[in-house]
Amino acid sequence: MSPQKSHVFPRHCHANLPKAVGGDGCYLIDETGKRYFDGSGGAAVSCLGHSNDRVREAVKAQVDQLAFAHTGFFTSDPAEALADLLIENAPGDLDRVYFVSGGSEAVESAIKLARQYHVERGEPQRRHLIARKQSYHGNTLGALSAGGNEWRRAQFAPLLVDMTHIAPCYEYAERPDGETPQDYGLRVANELEAEIQRLGEDSVIAFIAEPVVGATLGAVPAVPGYFKRVREICDQYGVLLILDEVMCGMGRTGHLFACDADGVVPDILCIAKGLGAGYQPIGAMLCSSAIYDAISDGTGFFQHGHTYIGHPVAAAAGLAVVSELLDRALPAQVQSRGAYLSSALSAAFGQYAHVGDIRGRGLFQGIEFVADRETKRTFDPKLGLAGKLKKAAFAEGLICYPMPGTRDGRNGDHVLLAPPFIATEAELDDMVGRLSRAVSSVM
Ligand code: PLP
Repeated sequence: MSPQKSHVFPRHCHANLPKAVGGDGCYLIDETGKRYFDGSGGAAVSCLGHSNDRVREAVKAQVDQLAFAHTGFFTSDPAEALADLLIENAPGDLDRVYFVSGGSEAVESAIKLARQYHVERGEPQRRHLIARKQSYHGNTLGALSAGGNEWRRAQFAPLLVDMTHIAPCYEYAERPDGETPQDYGLRVANELEAEIQRLGEDSVIAFIAEPVVGATLGAVPAVPGYFKRVREICDQYGVLLILDEVMCGMGRTGHLFACDADGVVPDILCIAKGLGAGYQPIGAMLCSSAIYDAISDGTGFFQHGHTYIGHPVAAAAGLAVVSELLDRALPAQVQSRGAYLSSALSAAFGQYAHVGDIRGRGLFQGIEFVADRETKRTFDPKLGLAGKLKKAAFAEGLICYPMPGTRDGRNGDHVLLAPPFIATEAELDDMVGRLSRAVSSVM
């Protein structure tokens, strides 16, 4: 008998996926009872695992109290309380929170807010945006335009917003042997200044970057000093700095906000994923008081919005998540478990012939695979290693996040690990064991 036809439009038309029916701590359970260790939190989402009582109760209570009130008419207790908590713990002068439903919406909102800020201040000539190659900022057209992954952009290129892309800070692949990490960081940061000068010194709206590059490179932090220099350049030219922490924020790197580790405060900060921890779809854009005041003292109206901004149930979930992160000091736990994971990965893969680099921060770790360790030559993308690894890991009962390298060979296939913060050392060891068996079976 052929399987019953599904009317769901899946990501991969021929994937034939199992049905997830339950969640238990760090595990997802399918309809046959098979348990999968969630080694990537889906895509760096499930930071508290799949059965956190505090968040579940908060969601249920909020649905009973008030499910929805449109923000054109009302504010709500959970939205107010979550904004207060985020701002109390946010770096620098970040002072206002604009809630959305996910990461792409946060980035779209940031781009439009940045443009409107300059218009309100009487600088409508600022019309260029600068982003980085090998980055990912989401799939809606503005966010996709900011992203620098050629494969994701290619077929939509005619629809994209005009943005330019400078080099990422990607030490493993791009720092020449003779150059110190510090000099390398300054050199690539200075590409931003050169690009601003090329476009016109007073013509740039904003520069957007991920503090730790997630999906496209696999947990690549910048070298120390890079973002400080970026901040200086942005200040010098009146360019807003947008940091996209949709994947790396909310404790994932061992700090509530990833930019804390770089000692840099952005003008606009985007978060999502870990904010709702998978219990509700929610993202947010935090901005400085200077940006808010420019709008407030100007037209008084941010010309943007979605129906579900500030959704009370999503905000209640976010409030419970951030309260859990802070009350249980989970970012500090992420630092120690991250150090443990990093050593476990080095022990398992350090000598492996096809592992070029193991990197990351906290419980956000990546392994890059190469055909040749000496020359860093990447595997032929036609081999489809990332897809094979995903399948092999899944068969081992491990959810991880492998991604193919770029076709130009600038970065290799990699796998991203972002386990729940509650994972024990024994569970991390088990995850590394499953990954190791999967890797050996495909390369
Ligand atoms: N920005 C970054 C850095 C991301 O990693 C992602 C998703 O992976 C997004 C934005 C888009 O988020 P969403 O998928 O929630 O729209």
